Amino acid sequence: MNKTALITGATRGIGKQIAITLAEKGYNIAVNYRTENEDLKIVEQEIRKKNVEFMAVKGDVSIFEDTEKFVKEVIEKFGKIDVLVNNAGITKDTLIMRMKKEDFENVINVNLTGTFNVTKNVIPYMMKERSGRIINISSVVGIAGNAGQTNYSASKAGIIGFTKSLAKEVASRNILVNAVAPGFIETAMTNVLKDNIKEEIAKTIPLKRMGSPTDVANVVKFLASEEASYITGQVINVDGGMLM
Ligand code: NAP
Repeated sequence: MNKTALITGATRGIGKQIAITLAEKGYNIAVNYRTENEDLKIVEQEIRKKNVEFMAVKGDVSIFEDTEKFVKEVIEKFGKIDVLVNNAGITKDTLIMRMKKEDFENVINVNLTGTFNVTKNVIPYMMKERSGRIINISSVVGIAGNAGQTNYSASKAGIIGFTKSLAKEVASRNILVNAVAPGFIETAMTNVLKDNIKEEIAKTIPLKRMGSPTDVANVVKFLASEEASYITGQVINVDGGMLM
């Protein structure tokens, strides 16, 4: 029986590439999405080409009842979830002087509470199987901080604390929990920046380029694999050397 992976926010960007990369490794794939659009159809087509089973489950990760419902749907179809990737995330960048309370709360609710919501619903099934991998997508700004991102960096730092605590709680059940902290990756999230700003940032990165969603997906693939079976509670930076 093929292993199964659930990836949140996987209609585009990093999540989409993680879904495709795990499909290439033979995982049956459940893609969580919030907005139904052309992107979802494209992911489905790409994954079906890999000859694995595919399902799409709708739901906003910040709404507990949504996550309860879509995790159940995945279990009903696939029977188990071997790998959970908490990828869904948003930014609402601005300096604290201008940041509204809602800007802070929305980002925490999606990025951090969303990670809790999905994990809370998946963990009983992994406990039963006495195996599982949870990979949380954090960010280098959760480690280093970044002006204009108090909300986002707090959510991503929170994910690191969540990852380490959960790793300690569930290690005895052979459930491994790790975080990946991407640096500056080319997706819709960073496309809001003007080209000259992106070039300036790239110059400060030792590898002198932005990362690609594939750079991140390859590390997630490794953390999901047998080869990573002695790694838990870690944060792996995928950032071209931005943070050392
Ligand atoms: P992206 O292109 O904006 O994609 C984000 C995805 O998350 C979209 O599919 C979006 O769906 C989904 N999403 C947002 N809110 C959601 C919610 N409440 N419930 C379910 N799905 C939701 O971003 P990305 O760059 O691929 O980022 C993916 C992850 O990597 C995020 O956690 C991000 O913080 C992290 N990251 C990115 C970078 C970077 O440089 N790009 C760096 C560090 C960390 P909709 O279409 O519905 O909005």
